[in-house]
Order: sequence, then C-alpha cells, then structure tokens
Amino acid sequence: MNYSDLFFIMFVTSSTMFGIVFGSFLNVVIYRIPASKTIVKGHSMCMTCGHTLGVLDLVPILSWLFLGGKCRYCKAPIASRYCKIECFTGLCFLLTALNHREITELLLQGSNKFLVPQFAMYCTFLLMICCVISVMMIFYDTRKAYLQFPLIILISRALVVLIYGIYVGNITLALYSIAIFIIMSVAFIAIPYIVIRLVKANYSKVDFLFDFAMGTALTFVSQYAYVNKFEKIYTFIPLLTFYTIVRLLTKDKKYEKYMGILCASIIVLLLASSIILMYIY
Ligand SMILES: [Zn+2]
Repeated sequence: MNYSDLFFIMFVTSSTMFGIVFGSFLNVVIYRIPASKTIVKGHSMCMTCGHTLGVLDLVPILSWLFLGGKCRYCKAPIASRYCKIECFTGLCFLLTALNHREITELLLQGSNKFLVPQFAMYCTFLLMICCVISVMMIFYDTRKAYLQFPLIILISRALVVLIYGIYVGNITLALYSIAIFIIMSVAFIAIPYIVIRLVKANYSKVDFLFDFAMGTALTFVSQYAYVNKFEKIYTFIPLLTFYTIVRLLTKDKKYEKYMGILCASIIVLLLASSIILMYIY
C-alpha cells in the first residue's frame, strides 16, 4: 500500500466517524425543530425519566449498543431510530468520501487551484445530505416541512459554483451552472405541482416545501455525483419522472410519509453507483 492509499483510507475513515457524530446532531435537529425548540442550547435528557444524559450516554451508536437500548437511569427502552440515523448519516458520509478521492490527491500535491473548490463541493454535498436526512425524518414524524432546508441546499450549491468560477477563472460558466441548477430545481417543484393539481387538486404549503427540498437535493445529486464524472449520463429527466409518479401515487395515502426516505435512498444509490462505475471505467 502506498502513501496515497493510506491517506485516502484515513480521509474516508475520519469522514465516516464525522458523519456518525453529525447523525447524532441531526437526531436533535429532527426532534427540536418541529417542537419549536432551539437546536444550539439545552442538555439532552431521557424522554421517559427526564434525567440529564452524561457524555457516556451520548456516544453515537456505542452508547445505545452498550446500554442494550435502555436508559441507564430508568431502564426505559430507547428507540433504535437514533442509532439508525447515526448509521445512515455515517454511510452517506462514507460514500461521499469514496466519491472524493481527488481531494486527498490534491492535498498530497500541495497547493493547487482545484483544492479549495473541490473541498467546498465536498462540504456542501455533506450539508445537502444533512438537510435531506432532516427533511425525511421530520416529514416522516410530523408531515411538516420547513423552508430553511431547501434554502441551505440552494444557497450552498450556488456558493460552491461561484467558488469554482472564481478559482478556476470562469465566472460565466459558474453563472451558467447556477442558472441551470435553478431551472432544474424549479422544474422539480413545478412538474409535481402541476400533475398533483391536475389529478388531486390539493397541494399545500407543506407539499411545496417538501418538493422544494427534495427537488434541490435530487437536482444537486443528478448534476454532481453522476454527471460530473460521466458527463454523458443524464439522470435528471428519469429522476423527475419517477419522483412525480411516486409522489402522485402516495399523495394523501398512508405511505406518503415514506417519500423522504425514498428520496434519501435514491441519493445513496446514486452515490454508490457512481463509485461502482468509477471502478469499472
Ligand atoms: Zn430514563
């Protein structure tokens, strides 16, 4: 094994661990945002006995496993979903790191004008993943949707393209990419909106916010994870068609709450398939 491989393994491992810790934070976001509580202050406590949880109770995944899925103080069972969300976030960060080997190559080469934009791309992609996980779970729990998540995806995507434009020296191309991204995202809201309105008539603010969040996220992935490496593969139109059909079929049905989970799974599949394709070619 050479130095480059070792460095890449370290990058992937630390990214995955970072993802698991972030998943733990997302558990807080998913619970507190619909409850209109602040996400920056306040201690975590047991939902049953109200005991404030210590550092040893809050180690992602491990605490849950070692405590046997029970509260240390009152022995009430703790739902496995916290652990599942931590694992899922860790998996997404793992796949994203595997898709970004070029960052470790660029770091080894030293100063390179592509390092900053590539790293910014990597960070915004992770931010998008975090938004998708929050949207999927909040929608699953409460059938609510919030404006901040799609806005974070939209703004971070626009920023990273601008950073690319500035570092690589092609602002026109950057602005063109932002315009394409916005047009694609608008299509992701407009098409389901038109189809649902034509067939079912009711389309609420929650529907709009949900489509806005998932539309920007799926546009992000179809523009990046796949297309960036294999430019001739266009996933956008099939994705949009599939999304619209499933959205229409599940609208106002009891499976509607799984829509977010479906979108997150699609993102994981696209990430995984781009890694597989990378090894084939
Ligand atoms: Zn307890």
